[in-house]
Amino acid sequence: MLSNLATRDVETLIHPYTNLDAHRANGPLVLERGQGVHVYDTDGRPYIEGMAGLWCTALGYSNAELVEAAAAQMGRLPFSHLFSGRSHDPAIELAEVLKELMPIPTSKVFFTSSGSEANDTQVKLAWYYNNALGRRAKKKIIGRSRGYHGVTVATASLTGLQANHADWDLPLPGFLHTACPHHYRFAEAGESEEAFSARLADELEQMILREDPDTVAAFIAEPVMGAGGAIVPPRGYFQAIQTVLARYDVRFIADEVICGFGRLGTWFGSEALGMAPQTLSFAKAVTSGYVPLGGITVDEPLYAAMVDQSAKLGTFGHGTTYSGHPVACAVALKAIEIYRRDRIVEGAAEKAPHFQARLARLAEHDIVGEARGIGLIGGLEIVADKRTKAQYDPKAGVAARCVAFAQAEGLIVRFLTGDRVAVCPPLIIAPDEIDALFDRLTRALDRTRDWIRSEGLG
Ligand code: PMP
Repeated sequence: MLSNLATRDVETLIHPYTNLDAHRANGPLVLERGQGVHVYDTDGRPYIEGMAGLWCTALGYSNAELVEAAAAQMGRLPFSHLFSGRSHDPAIELAEVLKELMPIPTSKVFFTSSGSEANDTQVKLAWYYNNALGRRAKKKIIGRSRGYHGVTVATASLTGLQANHADWDLPLPGFLHTACPHHYRFAEAGESEEAFSARLADELEQMILREDPDTVAAFIAEPVMGAGGAIVPPRGYFQAIQTVLARYDVRFIADEVICGFGRLGTWFGSEALGMAPQTLSFAKAVTSGYVPLGGITVDEPLYAAMVDQSAKLGTFGHGTTYSGHPVACAVALKAIEIYRRDRIVEGAAEKAPHFQARLARLAEHDIVGEARGIGLIGGLEIVADKRTKAQYDPKAGVAARCVAFAQAEGLIVRFLTGDRVAVCPPLIIAPDEIDALFDRLTRALDRTRDWIRSEGLG
């Protein structure tokens, strides 16, 4: 029996990324409040938010300073925009702070309200830039199988996941996907991480040559793949890839929407993984997820081209009502102040060895093939046979079952394609909470194994 609220939900709401058929019977998990790393449902049951919401609530729940920053800005100037040269101090100040923090040469910052909008802007600017330079054929964008970059028509095209393409008539022409850098699943027997990286870079090079380098504008990658499975790239991957990109003058866009602001124990994932992109996209933890904000960095050559184009066309024809929303900027400024003052990024780096040791231990579990991460993010893969890495029939929904057991144990985690389970808690998580998280996840895996046996799946 669904509760009153759950029934009203089923009757009224379309849920993103939800099996809408199953939802009619299962109903929602209705959350009511949060505190620290915990969220509470309408029955008052606490859960460790092991996903930081959707990889975003780095500072946990009910941070009074963030609430106060939003309220103060709401009271002062709740809305203003940046169109037609209008401005406001939270946007100016935030752009200054971000320029200072960026790990790559940054001339300017452009704000959006989401990660999708940020990456959509990246696509458009890659096109706009090459038009400005008179390279009108250099327009194709390469993403990766299992990469995740958003849901707009262009960013769902960048994304390399079946659910975002099948029956959506996507990807659009001009969007290509190269191989997923998942060593555990896709390396050949005995192939080292470095050799696998070199092979993937070679595959990328062959793709660029096949397409004709004069038609390839950009390559986009997340430092650690998030929605595609919480996948850490193999050693040497980005170094090998970057050599190829530079050879053919292909712009490198880093999608830092998950990894930005401390997730890997560095301010940006690019720093942890030796990436040197021309531009990056950010969102999520820039406000600790409290209000929607995203954006991209603009390097000097792009900026110069944008200025020239605007002069020629009369305006820079891009932007949304909420680009640089003052409340979002004020909350981001406060979040970054807290990250700095409370050493949140350094703290994530300090807690990472413990987190990763607990994660790695899960690889010993009967049904876990791989458990790997970096910083305070990790993924594990449930397999039917640890030796052959054979997987269960996707229809059995084994990882979904594990996530449901975790929820029953008081832990929120997320299942992803390929029977993977992701963990990505708020960065403020304490060492004893890391232990509680992994104790609960271990029990969920035990229950999943018992369920697999009782169902006769393995
Ligand atoms: N890029 C990455 C790496 C993401 O993880 C996400 C969201 N999960 C997006 C882009 C899209 O962001 P949004 O959902 O805010 O549009």
